[in-house]
Amino acid sequence: MKVISILGSTGSIGTQTLNIVREYKEEFRVDALAAYSNIDLLEAQVREFKPKIAAIGDASQYKELKRRVGGLTYVAADREGVVEAATAESCDTVVSAIVGIAGLIPTYNAIKTGKNIALANKETLVTAGRIITEEIKKNNVKMIPVDSEHSAIFQCLAKGKQNEVSKIILTASGGPFRNRTLKELENVTVQDALKHPNWSMGRKITIDSATLMNKGLEVIEARWLFDIMPESIEVCVHPQSIIHSAVEFVDGAVIAQLGLPDMKIPIQYALTYPERLPTNGEKLNLTAIGDLTFYEPDMKKFKCLKLAFRALSMGDSACVVLNGANEEAVKLFLSGKISFLAIGDLIEKTLDKHKIISNMSIDEVSALDLWSRKTLTNLYELGCIK
Ligand code: NAD
Ligand code: MG
Repeated sequence: MKVISILGSTGSIGTQTLNIVREYKEEFRVDALAAYSNIDLLEAQVREFKPKIAAIGDASQYKELKRRVGGLTYVAADREGVVEAATAESCDTVVSAIVGIAGLIPTYNAIKTGKNIALANKETLVTAGRIITEEIKKNNVKMIPVDSEHSAIFQCLAKGKQNEVSKIILTASGGPFRNRTLKELENVTVQDALKHPNWSMGRKITIDSATLMNKGLEVIEARWLFDIMPESIEVCVHPQSIIHSAVEFVDGAVIAQLGLPDMKIPIQYALTYPERLPTNGEKLNLTAIGDLTFYEPDMKKFKCLKLAFRALSMGDSACVVLNGANEEAVKLFLSGKISFLAIGDLIEKTLDKHKIISNMSIDEVSALDLWSRKTLTNLYELGCIK
């Protein structure tokens, strides 16, 4: 039996993980849960799964959560509380499914205490890929991707040796605005951007999917997860999201992983690896799908993808800036303060102001994250970009 800690238990990935736990009671036990808010759902999760610890990131909700479930479990709060849930002694596996860089420190501490990681929180590798991959080696733990593209690549890579890989082909749905012109993107609304054609996900990643920043973050995630250089990572737009990604080997053979656009398989595989468990869900029917199509991404229209490649070529610290600026710009867009295209423009201007820092420590990553957010907010307040 695997004993798991779920960070971000009230979110899209967190709740889908709990669905799997509910289905396979013999295989998994949940000993730790952490979320930022939504104590109603967290309370229901505590009552059903009976973890040993429940942590709430928003300290102002600690008292109320404790009143409701204090008799059932140990309740912790704030960042330290979330780290306690990430490092809970009885857990062997941590599902890292907090959104944003808020997931970094809990995941870092989980690795340091010897936990295997099922990684959904891509921002962890985007902002600290070098530090995290070193810690994984040092602590002899496994990091298994939950992100569907990376789960696909992980499965394809098993078909060859590391030195036989020539290219990774990362597929992208293209998001809701794939067919819009740049001019048409000027006036898209938050509601339009939140309507993803294939996937139902949290708000931040849904906006990232509309700007294609999600794919940019995934390129950086792949660079670290698979120890592969950016030149060997190709992004391919594939609107049906059936081929989840592919690997080209040196002999020209391309191995792809296919499936319906459903996070169940990647989450479950990350938890059961190296085994597979049978599922009763809907299976892929290729003839019902009919056509699979592929395009090159338009980096002029989707500047954020270009900026992610630029940050990768600048250096590790630029990826921290890219990520922090993006988180802040997405917040401004979601609250109706800036236009859709301003997201990329503001991130670009923030990157322009950054001077590369080498060999960053984890504390320097956090400090640089704050700098990038402040810089982007200042640029917004100056009013040069709407
Ligand atoms: P979500 O917004 O639905 O859920 C986020 C969760 O994190 C919530 O439980 C929230 O309470 C918690 N959280 C946020 N800030 C926190 C903090 N400071 N401390 C503690 N908990 C905090 O997001 P999601 O769609 O589930 O995405 C989670 C992560 O998984 C993201 O990094 C995303 O990129 C990645 N991911 C998601 C999907 C998907 O299908 N949803 C697919 C691939 C990757
Ligand atoms: Mg993905």
